Amino acid sequence: MTVVVSAALALALSTFGPPPVAFTSRVIASHQLPPNIRTTDDLRPIIEGLLARSATLRQQSARIAVAKQTYVSVTLSVAQLAWDARARSTARRYKSGLLVVDIEIPPASGDFPELLAHELEHATEFIDRIDFKKLARANNTGVVQCSGDGSFETVRAQQAGRTVKIEIEMTGNGRR
Ligand SMILES: [Zn+2]
Repeated sequence: MTVVVSAALALALSTFGPPPVAFTSRVIASHQLPPNIRTTDDLRPIIEGLLARSATLRQQSARIAVAKQTYVSVTLSVAQLAWDARARSTARRYKSGLLVVDIEIPPASGDFPELLAHELEHATEFIDRIDFKKLARANNTGVVQCSGDGSFETVRAQQAGRTVKIEIEMTGNGRR
């Protein structure tokens, strides 16, 4: 599920100011998160462990890594999601071109890899400047508007989630 926040609302909601734009450049291993995907100290090793096991997650990460003026955050959230939403991405695009995507995933979700991939795919949809509203108005575009709250769902994100779920299952985790 993805939410597009209007620019005016985004400014009102943005109490943290724009993220820092200066990063020291360094070589990043493919299983490490790039500097513009930010997460908590708890989640980082979990996500990087999944990156090592999923080519699709690595591709998503690489696409986000090279996107200009783009910042993605991944956090666990106990915030109330819509009844039919399992996770949420909220995107804010500023006039300057800055794109900020906040991904929230429920804690203790056994579907974490699938949900992470699903929401990271939404981030790439924003990078691709998918026009969710326009596509949702037409038939068979793979984009639908969810019930009344300005959010959207896409076949593309659902497929990415399912693909990563299978990739992770195929590698096993050695602990079960
Ligand atoms: Zn979605």
